[in-house]
Amino acid sequence: MIVDSLLTDEQRAIRDAARDFAEKEFPNYAEECDREEKFPFELWKKAAKLGFIGINIPEEYGGQGLGILDSCLVVEEFWRVDGGLAQITSTTFGSEQIIMFGTEEQKKRYLPPLAKGEAICCACYTEPHAGSDVAGIKTRADKDGDEYVINGTKMFITNGGIADYYIVLARTDPNPPKRHHGMSVFIVEKDTPGLEARKLTNKLGIRASDTAEVVFKNVRVPKDNLVGEEGKGFYQTMTFFNVTRIPVAFQAVGIARGAFELAFEYAKNREVFESKLIEFQVTLEKLAKMRTKLEAARLLAYQAAYFQDRQGIPDPGLTAMAKYYTARVAQEIVNEALQIHGGYGFMGEQAISRMYRDVRILEIYEGTREIELEIIGRSLTGRIPSVLGTVRRHPLM
Ligand SMILES: Cc1cc2nc3c(=O)[nH]c(=O)nc-3n(C[C@H](O)[C@H](O)[C@H](O)COP(=O)(O)OP(=O)(O)OC[C@H]3O[C@@H](n4cnc5c(N)ncnc54)[C@H](O)[C@@H]3O)c2cc1C
Repeated sequence: MIVDSLLTDEQRAIRDAARDFAEKEFPNYAEECDREEKFPFELWKKAAKLGFIGINIPEEYGGQGLGILDSCLVVEEFWRVDGGLAQITSTTFGSEQIIMFGTEEQKKRYLPPLAKGEAICCACYTEPHAGSDVAGIKTRADKDGDEYVINGTKMFITNGGIADYYIVLARTDPNPPKRHHGMSVFIVEKDTPGLEARKLTNKLGIRASDTAEVVFKNVRVPKDNLVGEEGKGFYQTMTFFNVTRIPVAFQAVGIARGAFELAFEYAKNREVFESKLIEFQVTLEKLAKMRTKLEAARLLAYQAAYFQDRQGIPDPGLTAMAKYYTARVAQEIVNEALQIHGGYGFMGEQAISRMYRDVRILEIYEGTREIELEIIGRSLTGRIPSVLGTVRRHPLM
């Protein structure tokens, strides 16, 4: 890939190691975990041992303290081979709230087990009637002495059935002056009485990734489990997404690359009309368009990651643009890649068939395509502070 020349030697080493690992290990688990909707615990442990999990958890808390681009290189290589299995990197999902807003005690207690692959985290925002509209959540956390009592239901929670730590957004003020106010973030540990998870099955894609409905019935947590400031939960969560959408852009680049490579190989080998498929102009044109979109998408993902690493804070507009565009392009590339495989792409449990199902999630979770467009639009008009609204003054421009 052309953009590789922008990487440091250390980053290339991370990328190559991640590629080797995914190519060697993933084929042993991909079909079975997809078919049986099984989280690959063994694979996750192996990946953690080799340092692929929790790469950007700070060193003092057991991680490697590397930048977002470094961790995204792993995400890209893993998604290139299999999106469902690649979700082993999401076992730290939610820990960003602790890294950015948590107390020293919370960091010391929760981050090291996540970085070592000894514990799994999940982030609980979505509710049955509030997905895109995060401010519409109904889950309550009511103060009772030195504790908060949490009641509510969270929906579609990645790792919800297998997590050790639940990061939960709840309303601490039932009557706030504005609907975005009065929310707070909490850590709930898995064996806390009143916490129940129900695994959701029969997903279209990323079936090796665990998804659950999580119910909180009078779940009591000490006030020390409040993450960040009471009442600031919505804003913390938006900052969280501005960071975590960058890896999603790399998920999209990874799966698009994987699909492109499969299609290219297939077209070189498949005989049609007594010639190789790739010898037909229409095939070459398809591949040319796919590759061009892929390179453009990759650059945008890199730009979002570079920005975050250099500035130390995410840019909402740039992040949304990267997620929106890479996910859109990934749908197109995977769709064309399956087309190149003809009937063989449609049948059975081939990698390209799984990719066709897996890619769909990228325009849904962590902000739907429409929500990303909304954020980009608001950034352009200055309603959300972003480099997109102040192009000329920005140091990277
Ligand atoms: C496999 C999977 C894993 C997930 N993991 C997690 C997780 O770990 N944690 C978590 O909290 N959530 C998670 N989610 C939830 C995910 O983030 C939501 O599904 C997503 O935010 C959309 O919410 P919704 O499904 O309620 O759809 P809705 O918000 O009801 O949207 C329905 C449609 O309306 C569109 N829409 C909504 N508002 C507008 C608007 N203002 N303008 C135009 N169009 C609009 C949407 O774009 C979408 O197309 C996961 C979901 C899935 C499927």
